[in-house]
Amino acid sequence: MSETEKSPGVNFIRAIINEDLENGKNNGHVVVRFPPEPNGYLHIGHAKSICFNFGLAQDYQGGECYLRFDDTNPLKEDEEYQEAIKRDVHWLGFDWGPRLTHASDYYEIFYQKAELLIEKGLAYVCSLNAEQVRSHRGTLTETGKASPDRNRPMAENLDLFRRMRKGEFPDGTYTLRAKIDMSSGNINLRDPAIYRIRHTSHHRTGDAWCLYPMYDYAHPLNDALEGITHSICTLEFQDHRPLYDWFVDNCEMEHKPQQIEFSRLNVNYTVTSKRKLRTLVEGKHVSDWDDPRMPTVCGLRRRGYTPASLRNFCERIGISKKETIIDYSIVEEEVRNDLNENALRSLVVLDPIKVVLTNYPEGQVEWFEVLNHPQKPELGQRKIPFSREVYIDRDDFLETPTKGFFRLSPGKEVRLRYGFVIKCEEVIKDAQGHVAELRCSYDPDTGHGQNPKDGRKVKGIVHWVDANHCLSAEVRLYDRLFIDPAPGSLDDEQFIAQLNPNSLLVVKDAKIEPALANAAPESHFQFERLGYFCADKEDHSSKNPVFNRTVTLRDTWAKAQDA
Ligand code: ATP
Ligand code: MG
Repeated sequence: MSETEKSPGVNFIRAIINEDLENGKNNGHVVVRFPPEPNGYLHIGHAKSICFNFGLAQDYQGGECYLRFDDTNPLKEDEEYQEAIKRDVHWLGFDWGPRLTHASDYYEIFYQKAELLIEKGLAYVCSLNAEQVRSHRGTLTETGKASPDRNRPMAENLDLFRRMRKGEFPDGTYTLRAKIDMSSGNINLRDPAIYRIRHTSHHRTGDAWCLYPMYDYAHPLNDALEGITHSICTLEFQDHRPLYDWFVDNCEMEHKPQQIEFSRLNVNYTVTSKRKLRTLVEGKHVSDWDDPRMPTVCGLRRRGYTPASLRNFCERIGISKKETIIDYSIVEEEVRNDLNENALRSLVVLDPIKVVLTNYPEGQVEWFEVLNHPQKPELGQRKIPFSREVYIDRDDFLETPTKGFFRLSPGKEVRLRYGFVIKCEEVIKDAQGHVAELRCSYDPDTGHGQNPKDGRKVKGIVHWVDANHCLSAEVRLYDRLFIDPAPGSLDDEQFIAQLNPNSLLVVKDAKIEPALANAAPESHFQFERLGYFCADKEDHSSKNPVFNRTVTLRDTWAKAQDA
């Protein structure tokens, strides 16, 4: 399929690729990569990058996308993160096939290329410590100062560098630096470090190395070695591009990838920085990386977001160079759209009041046949029990109805969803004066089933469950994690202070249709009139049903903010 036929919106990067293809550049290949650092879990921003890169590989004929672990920092990386990243990419619907690589696969080549730079007089071993390097670097207005080692003879550099590899020197004694331009207007070009000494085991290479390459050096070589045609990254790397090209050229890489930058995804009311996310986990402000309030891919998954909803979201926000903040409601709208189409319907009561139908025969049970999805008979049907006692939600009753309240109140009628019309005859209160029970009559001439045809026009329809057959469930009502729209811009203490105290409300004894207990973990439902929910991935079982609210039926946040 050609690009224009598929037409997923020709953003500026696709336009560059199309032009390259027209000009026969890269022999007509499109090879991209997603290069996470395995030092945390993926978040919704990474999802944008995954969908875009793997999406390009899918859309262009013969396109390829690598999943490459950028494991150049042995101090912070972990196997656990790698497995989680693989799981998340697969779950989002993408497959790297045989193209799973690690920066550490290429350590020997990186090393050899560094020797080449030394031999060409383009790199030197520097003995300045971190603090001195910083003070020598200069500022935007002030040129840098050369290291006293800048003109160390080539042979001496080579000898020192080889001894660095052998482990003769402790951490921090030497670095290898590129010899570029200490007075460059671009500070990245002021003799950046290429290698640092770290006597630390690496989770893949063990103790083979005590010398680790810097990201700015390893990344372009890695791209070149894998034949990446378009190396797509976020805008903060724009100023690193001259350095990227410098390494590719001077290391005499055969293949020359092109770096292209786009703006990162920012979403309000949440944070997309691994460091801040880690602060939330380590400070126990959330249960873990997959807490359903986290903007991590595993958190969104546990919350009940679907892969399609996240892919659609990423497609919708598009790719550009403009820095924007996406409104959280857009993320929610996409999951609502998907679940409206695909989630099975169910009746659940969160805060039950018992309703006794005084004129309904005691001991009688009827089963109402209803569709699992009103527009999709192919999703099957089920039978819901009905008897003399049902539960409705406390919200659906008002003793003194306000104007426009069409649900139940004394003397008023309401229809039970898929069932009879009932009328409230009496309100029973407990010792504290709280409504304990409603005594109602039902109209046996009204119908039941998917669309009761009895000609009775009743303004209110309420959801309910049969009190004699329902089961109890825990329902976790999630809301936004932050009350501040821009928590990412706050420092650590301030952003913790902006956590939404109502981001999780646990309902311990919700009443559910009996069939719901058999729901598979991670299956999705619309609890009618309440929202979209999913059976919790970890805690749900038929003995102990647990559901998470993914999203409300409508955008209630905006309304609450206006009020
Ligand atoms: P963080 O800043 O949260 O630590 P990172 O950029 O260091 O994230 P990496 O693991 O290096 O995390 O990211 C892997 C890829 O995902 C990179 O190509 C990066 O550009 C991209 N990426 C990270 N965050 C976003 C974002 N918010 N929007 C789009 N792409 C992103
Ligand atoms: Mg990074």
